[in-house]
Amino acid sequence: MTDLSAMDIYQELPQTDCGDCNFPTCMAFAMQLASKQVSLDQCPHVSEEAEETLAASSAPPMKIVTIGNGNSEVEVGGETVQYRHEEKFYRPTAVAVEIDDSHEDSELVENVRRANDLQFERVGETIDVNLLTVKNDQLEPDKYGELVGKVGKESRFPLYLQSRDPEAIEEGLKRVSEGKPLIGYATGDNWKEMTKVAEEYECPLAVSGDELSDLADLTDKISGEGHEDLVLAPNAEGMRDYLEKSTKLRRLAVEEGFSPLGYPVVAHVDSGDPFQKLAEATSHVLKYASILSINTLDSWQILPLLTVRQHIFIDPQVQNSVEAKLYEVGDPGPDSPVLFTTNFQLTYYSLEGEVDDSGFSAYISVMDTDGLGVLNAYADDQLTGEGIVETVREQGAMDKVDHNKLIIPGLVGMLRMTVQEEGGWDVIVGPEDAATLPRFLRQEWEA
Ligand code: SF4
Repeated sequence: MTDLSAMDIYQELPQTDCGDCNFPTCMAFAMQLASKQVSLDQCPHVSEEAEETLAASSAPPMKIVTIGNGNSEVEVGGETVQYRHEEKFYRPTAVAVEIDDSHEDSELVENVRRANDLQFERVGETIDVNLLTVKNDQLEPDKYGELVGKVGKESRFPLYLQSRDPEAIEEGLKRVSEGKPLIGYATGDNWKEMTKVAEEYECPLAVSGDELSDLADLTDKISGEGHEDLVLAPNAEGMRDYLEKSTKLRRLAVEEGFSPLGYPVVAHVDSGDPFQKLAEATSHVLKYASILSINTLDSWQILPLLTVRQHIFIDPQVQNSVEAKLYEVGDPGPDSPVLFTTNFQLTYYSLEGEVDDSGFSAYISVMDTDGLGVLNAYADDQLTGEGIVETVREQGAMDKVDHNKLIIPGLVGMLRMTVQEEGGWDVIVGPEDAATLPRFLRQEWEA
């Protein structure tokens, strides 16, 4: 069926703006429905006639599944395209770090606390791990249940209970079911028991199979039992096989609308080599894991992974820029440095972070270059000496200080003379790379 526009959909809605769908207006709901980010049943007032018209067109090609409860819940899936530039990717890969069942109590608690601390600030955002996988390799069901209970008490994340034994999963759920963890796996052998447990405790269920046809067969059977909150866990022989499967799976779901595979995907990385592990994990974030479970608690591995995720899930239709204005970092005064830069988000936050680390407080005058970085803006003629002078003057940056010194980025050191002559300031060429700014300020700055 042809996709309907937001206006077509709006015409079919009651147009009362009652808000029962959790959107303020029917138009807001129609826009979300048109981009397949909500399902029609979220509006309880749709007529049967409208339902018939809208149902097929508005159903998301990949189901949105919620893991967890309350503040820490995570939504995965709901993707609508194969390639990010076609629209955007909606829900960042949920990163799950793994706790296995081999730890003594004190080590277990320590590991959960380490996982809780995996949180970083980067370009103005908090980037964070989202789930904790509790893996069962060797424990009897009651012992696994106890382990899950202990992890659940300490964890700030929703859990992913991983065992092929439905009895072990149920023992875990007896302790943490209120947190609505993801459970898995359902296989060709245990799917009936797993589905029963998932239904009873109302938890999302991961389904595992070797071939895509096995997965489709299983989701068909399980959804036939009334359980629709499913996540796909394809088995593979190595990365190549996995990426072929995940790419095909995504295509079948979002381009062909093949509903038995229209669910989020979970990938697992448990390579022993830390660099191999990171390479595999990154590939999964790129293609097309909705959830990635990885067996590390080391921040040197998690930070780059979250950094890649942050970049991939940026909306390509939205400019990554900050407001062009005069910023104050720390508690600047009349002796503080005045720096200049452009309003590309990454450029600004890198500079701000380095100023913060340097121990100096500073003013940063930020020019509107349509979100371009320093060198791109210069190449595009958006960043000129005259433009720098105009921006710094308009923002009153030099009025804030008792000195006459302006630091411009090293990448546009060739503009120094123009800025100096036009602005009448003592212009200092700063470093090309923000990372060296702390050393530069310590060595060079004198008001
Ligand atoms: S619940 Fe239905 S009628 Fe009410 S605002 Fe939402 S779309 Fe409109």
